[in-house]
Amino acid sequence: MKRKQFKTESKRILDLMINSIYTHKEIFLRELISNASDALDKLYYKSLTEPGAGISRSELEIRLVPDSSKRTLAVIDDGIGMTREELENNLGTIARSGTLDFKQDIDPQEDIDIIGQFGVGFYSAFMVSKKVTVISKAFGSEEAWRWESTGAEGYTLESCLKEGHGTEIILELKDNTADENYDEYLEQYRITEIVKRYSDYIRYPINMEVTKSRLKDKAEKPDDEEEGEIPEYESYTEKETLNSRVPLWRRNKSEITAEEYEHFYTEKFYDYEKPLRYVHVKAEGTMTYNALLYIPSKTPYNYYSKDYEKGLQLYSNGVLIMDKCPDLLPDYFSFVRGLADSQDLSLNISREMLQHDRQLKAIAKSLEKKIKSELLKLQEDEREKYETFYKAFGLQLKFGIYSSFGAYKEQLQDLLMYHSLKEDKLVTLAEYKAAMAPEQDSIYYACGESVSRIRQLPQTERVLDKGWDILCMTDDVDEFAVKIMGGFDGKTFKSVSSGDLDLESDDDKKAAEQQAAEHKDLFEFMREALGDKVKEVRLSKRLKTHPVCLATEGALTLEMEKVLNSMPADQKVKAERILEINAGHPVFDALCRLYEEDQEKLKTYSELLYNQALLIEGIAIEDPVAFSNAICTLM
Ligand code: ADP
Repeated sequence: MKRKQFKTESKRILDLMINSIYTHKEIFLRELISNASDALDKLYYKSLTEPGAGISRSELEIRLVPDSSKRTLAVIDDGIGMTREELENNLGTIARSGTLDFKQDIDPQEDIDIIGQFGVGFYSAFMVSKKVTVISKAFGSEEAWRWESTGAEGYTLESCLKEGHGTEIILELKDNTADENYDEYLEQYRITEIVKRYSDYIRYPINMEVTKSRLKDKAEKPDDEEEGEIPEYESYTEKETLNSRVPLWRRNKSEITAEEYEHFYTEKFYDYEKPLRYVHVKAEGTMTYNALLYIPSKTPYNYYSKDYEKGLQLYSNGVLIMDKCPDLLPDYFSFVRGLADSQDLSLNISREMLQHDRQLKAIAKSLEKKIKSELLKLQEDEREKYETFYKAFGLQLKFGIYSSFGAYKEQLQDLLMYHSLKEDKLVTLAEYKAAMAPEQDSIYYACGESVSRIRQLPQTERVLDKGWDILCMTDDVDEFAVKIMGGFDGKTFKSVSSGDLDLESDDDKKAAEQQAAEHKDLFEFMREALGDKVKEVRLSKRLKTHPVCLATEGALTLEMEKVLNSMPADQKVKAERILEINAGHPVFDALCRLYEEDQEKLKTYSELLYNQALLIEGIAIEDPVAFSNAICTLM
């Protein structure tokens, strides 16, 4: 018989399996049972679309047959089966794209995690077997085939006889070693334990023939002969269903432990960290559906990339119809994992039709509400966990506001948090508002690279002095989202770096206006000295101890300018800059004096002050050499 070679990719995975030191080898059984269950699903589908196939779901089962004398364990299904080509293609050339694509060199020591995270399907059988035999007959076909492999050397494929359609996978277990006892996979209790652990919610019964013993029935004998009798036992086999079959989400909430919910998540969604929160929805009434929603505790590695696929698993009455149904989740909640199951959805609905399905839309709407209320609860009850969530996915919420041009701000505003300068912790907008002083009209914010940078901004001083808080905006999208929101609950947002801050009383305002009028010529002179660098030079109402700062006027702020100009685009944008001078600072007196005595020097001073203001903002100055020369000259 001709031995065929595995394709390179398959061989790598096989090597990994055979030499695996992975400690949860038991997962091979989960993988084989899942495949069997899929094969039964496929058969059941077929019977729906091909009437007359005569398949009833209630007759379908998965059988496990341990045989201690031969040291084999068989996993048997009467599902769709595989043709010769399918055996060859599915088992001979598995290129589990995605699983190993991003890893070129496999190291069995280091790559244990791959097994744990993704599961590796059929090949995991080789973690426990020295030989794997697959006997399969495709539904509707006359021929059966036997595929056999002892591992990396290749496999054989030959025709054989088999009654009925389906697949039988026979594992010849590896020999026991000092560290590993493979015999455990022949033990009833151990098999039961593994099935319960990983495959309890498989819809089809997983039956095992178990050997039991009972007192042997003896022929009736006269009463007096019974004394002194030695009891005699006989063994018999019985079929036992190992799994409880009802999917977790269909069971009663009160009967499910937190551990079961979490275990379900890590197993089903390949996350090795527990979810931050889960919610089990059982909706009844106009819309009947069950859903299990999970909020992961970490950002998936590809989350903020186009590779990330959002969606929930969609079941129709317990049968999976789509693995990632995107229509069930709005983009801004794309981090949610889980599933929804409704009996009101048709099984053979196409993907295109599904998008327009009113029932599905209604479920999506209701799930969205649920997710929001769950997040708010988390924010309220478990602030630390909410902050973990927010660090992982808060950016997505802000993008949600920005990219929808504010259409979703109602849904999202309450979930936002920003670092408060006063409290030195994350606060919600509602919390900020509640703590506002009676005479305070706006929600103040400041932008910068980090909270510590913002803390140093001169523009924040006067606001903080009044005892008013400032929210720190440290993400690129922050100010864009804030501008789009406009305000929150009747209060407008105000950047400490632009426009009028409304900090002083009417009297103070008058005095300031008067002072500004007095020095009009000085400021005009400075503006001209700076050319088109600034739109205006004026007295500042926001500075306290610092001599200068930059402010902006108009829609575009310095922060937005930085962000927009860091993106690939031909046209660079420029915010309308205003150089503000602190009249209370000795530098101001010097400027006034120079205006009278030495206007050349005043030009240099203007440049210096402008450059200082740029540096404070974290913006590079145009000519650092000229800047430092000017300083040296003064020294
Ligand atoms: P996956 O199940 O993730 O696709 P596997 O390596 O477990 O990867 O299986 C590869 C393919 O082999 C399956 O997609 C399926 O088409 C086929 N297969 C495996 N087991 C069975 C089975 N018991 N009955 C029918 N087809 C099967």
